[in-house]
Amino acid sequence: MNQQYKFINAPLPYAYDAMEPYIDETTMWLHHNKHLQAYIDNLNDILCKYPALQNWTLEQLILNVPSLPEEIRTPVRHNAGGVFNHRFYFSCLANPASPHPEGALCEAIEKEFGSFKSFRDCLKEAALSVFGSGYAWLVVNAAGKLCITTTKNQDTPLPLNMLPVLNIDVWEHAYYLKHYNLRADYIDDWFHVVNWKQADKNYADCFRMAY
Ligand code: MN
Repeated sequence: MNQQYKFINAPLPYAYDAMEPYIDETTMWLHHNKHLQAYIDNLNDILCKYPALQNWTLEQLILNVPSLPEEIRTPVRHNAGGVFNHRFYFSCLANPASPHPEGALCEAIEKEFGSFKSFRDCLKEAALSVFGSGYAWLVVNAAGKLCITTTKNQDTPLPLNMLPVLNIDVWEHAYYLKHYNLRADYIDDWFHVVNWKQADKNYADCFRMAY
């Protein structure tokens, strides 16, 4: 996965039908091949006129939006965020998934939420609470504490000094073909395909790196 201009849309590490029956093949294909592709194309189009920004990483672009030329702040925020959020979302899917996180993440979930079941309820509630388009996230905040947050549109948790462990895309394009307007059903299905191994790794990385 490349991290600088010119950004490319790497193939997913699984087939488009790999999340069946929880997330359907057409949704996965459209989501990766059309939606994510559009964010990548838009971001490349913006940056092609700004050579000085072409060696910036995705994370640098996202974290430094306020210092960008004013005319590209909003488009970079939307499109760099769209690339980051979607790459993260796709990387956190696996089928079959292990039913639970393990090790340090499992311990942190039990410490902060009481139990895995209560964590699931909190994350579901947060994902349902997003009005319109956005994401629910499991993150590590600046104090090193595991918590749940939400972002609107294509905003990321990075400018809030939060590092992501797991996200769920609740834009309607992530579920409308299969689940129609029933976001709660999509969230329940998504829990069947969470890549906990990746989340375990992301959690460990939160304490090892800074963007
Ligand atoms: Mn999406």
